[in-house]
Amino acid sequence: MLASTSPHKLAEFRQLFRGSRVRIVPPADVAYPPQVDETGATFLQNARIKAVVYALTCRAWCLADDSGLEVDYLGGAPGVRSARYAGPAASDDMRNRKLLKALAEVPEARRTARFRCAVALAAPDGSIVYTAVRSCEGRIAHEPRGEHGFGYDPLFMVGAGDRTMAELTTDEKNDASHRGQAARAARRFLEHCLAQMPSG
Ligand code: IMP
Repeated sequence: MLASTSPHKLAEFRQLFRGSRVRIVPPADVAYPPQVDETGATFLQNARIKAVVYALTCRAWCLADDSGLEVDYLGGAPGVRSARYAGPAASDDMRNRKLLKALAEVPEARRTARFRCAVALAAPDGSIVYTAVRSCEGRIAHEPRGEHGFGYDPLFMVGAGDRTMAELTTDEKNDASHRGQAARAARRFLEHCLAQMPSG
């Protein structure tokens, strides 16, 4: 079960587990999703908290993701506060406008940033059995571009290229992204575990 109510994350994880024996289900398929306070200081701490709370509440194998954007010029902000960067009720658009304002006078060479994603897998008894952290380097654009993805994707130019994450197809994003890399690592782990189990 994915320990998240984000439809965007669910869609990306489902695509990333396409063709696998492991099926990703949303929490609504099994139980009402629990409220989780993301009090960790790192993505990994928050992913662990979410995985444990969902696993204990839903008594299922739970995969949690905690992710966000680190901008070097801002000392790594918004970081673990990426979802709350412009206040708890703000939209993606408001967060993106706030980020552009914070970088208004910042030249190209100093707009380096990365998306980071931590995943944590918890067993139904709440024990953490696997974690991984992966990142995707890039730069912050001067204006939003592209229609795909979510969050900061329209502002994040991937690697040394000129296309933003929102200008990539879903498959292209998953190939390069922080979440794609972390999910593939978790998928390899889960498939390895399944391969050790007696069939039937
Ligand atoms: P979380 O739900 O606490 O992990 O918050 C993640 C936040 O980081 C999201 O609300 C987005 O603002 C941002 N974020 C994480 N991953 C991505 C991504 O793949 N694209 C764009 N924004 C992302």
